[in-house]
Amino acid sequence: MKISIIGTGYVGLVTGTCLAETGNDVLCFDVDERKVQRLLSGDVPIYEEGLPPLIARNVLAARLVFTNDISHAVHHGELIFIAVGTPAGDDGRADLQHVLAAARDIGRYMHDSKVVVAKSTVPVGTGIKLRAVIEEELATRRGSNLAVGVHLSIVSNPEFLKQGTGIADFMQPDRIVLGSEPGAAGQYARDLMRRMYAPFNRDHDRTIHMSLEAAEFTKYAANAMLATRISFMNELANLAEKVGVDIEQVRCGLVADPRIGNSFLQAGAGYGGSCFPKDLQALVHTAAAHGQRLHLLEAVRVVNDAQKLRLVDKIVGHFGEDLHGRRFGIWGLAFKPGTDDMREAPSRIIIQALLMRGAEVVAHDPVAIDEARMALAKDLDGHPDQAARLSFNGQALEAADNCDALVILTDWNAFKNPDFDALKARLREPLIFDGRNLYDPSIRAKGIDYRAFGR
Ligand code: NAD
Repeated sequence: MKISIIGTGYVGLVTGTCLAETGNDVLCFDVDERKVQRLLSGDVPIYEEGLPPLIARNVLAARLVFTNDISHAVHHGELIFIAVGTPAGDDGRADLQHVLAAARDIGRYMHDSKVVVAKSTVPVGTGIKLRAVIEEELATRRGSNLAVGVHLSIVSNPEFLKQGTGIADFMQPDRIVLGSEPGAAGQYARDLMRRMYAPFNRDHDRTIHMSLEAAEFTKYAANAMLATRISFMNELANLAEKVGVDIEQVRCGLVADPRIGNSFLQAGAGYGGSCFPKDLQALVHTAAAHGQRLHLLEAVRVVNDAQKLRLVDKIVGHFGEDLHGRRFGIWGLAFKPGTDDMREAPSRIIIQALLMRGAEVVAHDPVAIDEARMALAKDLDGHPDQAARLSFNGQALEAADNCDALVILTDWNAFKNPDFDALKARLREPLIFDGRNLYDPSIRAKGIDYRAFGR
């Protein structure tokens, strides 16, 4: 099938590559010309495990092509995926400017039947807006609506992949949510989508059909649920600490109940990333626009914001408010393991809080140092004294050299079983603040002062 992808970021690039891998003829477009140039020259602009060889293989087979020519992209695909960013606007609502710009482009260059698929996370009602914008462009161009025999269908097909395991998640989805319009437009789109997803549905059909609006809502509901589980566990961990209970023991007892399940219940320094924070805000905003408050989800956010700073409270509790002359090694900068994504990463808040109090920070991450350097340069703009006290080190052990404490902020596998003796020898004080509960408190027997969450 001929497929175009508009927006070649974490979602668009994985989607396009996986669809090429299943034999489709995929053309990826992005407005960021540098990104397209890098992809054309064989470079992969994001870190996603397993993606570079998959891209290389499909480019070589001429099933995956990159372009910065939007008219080419619109002409190419019978299916056009919109996978552009939907960041939070100033008031928390989802900023749809990129999605609507993509729709305008489609309307501007479309001259045969298209199924337009919203992969971006968008609020309820966006599918209808996409149709209106595309039809408006068509009408401006032709002085009329769709030409006879030319169909436009809008589909909502939200993406559930997780950065770090994006390819496996896309190739073996646990569900494919497909929202379509009523009537003939919906039927036409469902038939095309069924063909496209057939290779992913061979053992059983994972597609869940629903209305456009229900599909849009489902994505927000899923992220809201996952964020809620994290804040729920973090609040209990804070209490566990006070009453002298190990939250990990509680977690094991809790997750054995199949009604509860075991994912997203790890206590720690809070969630970040490009999705949960903005999607929660957007849902709260949608509710407010309809005269409803989402008390639970508002609290989820409050708990999470406070949680990022609890690690700083622990550090200040030990060293005092003034951290001048103190040096901290940071392990983990990305918002989660398996990615170089620094959007809303808790590390940014925590590092700034340490620098603000006068500390020196040496930061390490297995893959996110370049992204972190850029993100923190932006955060510290106007604070050259703080920026001067931040450095990066590509070697985990070296980042701990001569530090007053090691602070762990991302649960990369590489941090899970370190040489504690070597670590102790490098630290000024054998002190670890673990924002991801990576170790068993029994490491205290090795003479390490181990501070974690709820343990
Ligand atoms: P991203 O920022 O990595 O990528 C977005 C890309 O769109 C960028 O390369 C940008 O240059 C491009 N773009 C912006 N405007 C454009 C336009 N008018 N035409 C063409 N390209 C344009 O974002 P992402 O993380 O891939 O997220 C994309 C969407 O998918 C968001 O709505 C997000 O909420 C959703 N989502 C993300 C994830 C995730 O794990 N990152 C998972 C599920 C859903």
